[in-house]
Formats: sequence, structure tokens, C-alpha cells
Amino acid sequence: MIVFDNHLELRTNLRTLYCNGKSIGFVPTMGALHVGHGTLISRSVAENDFTVVSIFVNPTQFGPNEDLDQYPRTLESDLKMCRSLGASHVFTPTPASIYPNGRNQHEIMFSLRGLDKILCGAKRPGHFDGVLQVVSILFNIVEPTRAYFGKKDFQQLTILRILAKELFFPVEVIPCEIIRETDGLAMSSRNRYLNLEERKQALFLRTSLQAVQNLAEEGMDTGQLHALVTEKLSEYPLIRLDYFDVRKELNLEAVSELRKNDHPVALIAAYCGKTRLIDNLHVFK
Ligand code: AMP
Repeated sequence: MIVFDNHLELRTNLRTLYCNGKSIGFVPTMGALHVGHGTLISRSVAENDFTVVSIFVNPTQFGPNEDLDQYPRTLESDLKMCRSLGASHVFTPTPASIYPNGRNQHEIMFSLRGLDKILCGAKRPGHFDGVLQVVSILFNIVEPTRAYFGKKDFQQLTILRILAKELFFPVEVIPCEIIRETDGLAMSSRNRYLNLEERKQALFLRTSLQAVQNLAEEGMDTGQLHALVTEKLSEYPLIRLDYFDVRKELNLEAVSELRKNDHPVALIAAYCGKTRLIDNLHVFK
């Protein structure tokens, strides 16, 4: 495994591999790797000749009051995990090398036409513009054959599929299932912020989605599902709901009536103490 912090050296190395007809799998991450990231890496290793993991806490996707400075940075153990899972390349650029003119000085910015006004986009202004910016930059540096993204960040996955399609990036976007702790909490680098009591109450996200799934089978509409989640919230005093919503899987359009053909997904975000967590579940099993 080779670790690169210089994008030109990484690109030169990867180019010789493409020229020899090799496939390149790519797993973009912000580090603080856990088993969830590990499954993406393992899948890429299984499906490609080479696997590039990027570890970059992208400043442009954090809002001014978010946790950019506190975001966990655990490079040494991240590299160990990448090596043990068989990654061939790790890319660890500095913010200054990706944004040489400074964080908000790029002449080209991205903007979405509506997907940034719903769910996490509405709650984190500019977040997905930053995600589109960094993923485009990384796609151009790595030129992957396949790129692996987790369904945990469901809205991100939807937007990045659209990015690849509309901007003709020659990459196959591969969605990967959510990996959970044994009690069902979705794994996240931010889970390490939780104290013991918060960790217990964080299960609200999972249990409310499961309750939604059970009741949807009994024919409830989305208004009733909302009411159910709000009612359940009262059992969890440390939780503050950011949003709960039900959307079509394909394009995140709102649904009022639940129809199996839309493959509706229930999406939730909540603060557990100061930590913001997200999760989602298909409404119909
Ligand atoms: P992050 O480092 O949080 O930006 O995540 C990097 C990638 O790992 C994204 O595609 C995430 O969706 C994915 N990921 C994070 N947590 C999980 C999880 N629990 N299960 C599956 N994928 C995940």
C-alpha cells in the first residue's frame, strides 16, 4: 500500500495502471474509519484490481457552526485498517493542496436545483455543494472505474449518482448497505462523540424507523408516521429531532401516500446531545 499526499504523484501512478487495463475502485472518506467504511473498502478490493481510499476532512462541506475542527482525525489507525483490508493506494491531501486559493475562493462552485432544499440540504446550507465540489475534484484526480458510497448518507448517494450521470463522469457509483452496531445503531465516525447515556438514547433513530416500518405494513399514511415518531421522541429526553421525512428512493420526491412501487425511504436526523446523527430505512421490507 502506498500513501500519497500529492495528487500529481497519485495520478501518475494510477495512469500507468489504467494504461495496462486495470480497474480502479475508489472509496472517498473523511477518515476516523470504522467497520462501515471497512465494508466499502473490502467490497472495492474484491471487485477491482486496485483500490484507492481517500482520507480528507473536506472543509467546504462543513457549515460555520459545525464540527470541522473537532472532527476526529485518526490517521495512523486508518492507515492500518486500509492496509489490512488490502487497499493499494491511500490519498491524504491537505486542504491547501485541494483548495490552493483558500476555502471559499474557487471560481467554480456547485449549486443544486432543489435537492439541497430538502432533508440534510435544508438543515445544512451549502453542505451538498461542498460534497459535489470535493467528489468532482477527487473523481478527476483518481479517475476511478467504480466508486463506493454508503446508503447511510442516502441523500448524498442520490446526489452523487446524479453528479456522475449528468456530468458524464466515467465511473460506476456503487451503493453499499448500512453497517450497524450490534444493537442497530448505524456506525458513524461521530458516534465516538456520544457519552454513555447519549449512546443509549441514540437508538431512537433506529427504533423509530423500525416502528415506522412496522406500521407502514398496517397501512398508515405519512402524516400518521410523523405523529408516531414525534410521540416516540418523548421517551428520549436527550434527543432533539432535526427532521423525519418519507421520500421516493429514486429521486427523493416527497410522498404523501405510501406506495410500494415508489420504494419509499424513511429518513431521520436528530441531535443526541450536541451530536447530529442520521439514519434511514426502506418503509417496506
Ligand atoms: P464519511 O467518512 O462519513 O464521509 O463516509 C465515507 C463513506 O462511508 C460514505 O460513502 C458513507 O456513506 C460511508 N459510510 C459511513 N458510515 C457507514 C455505515 N455505517 N455503513 C455504510 N457506509 C457508511
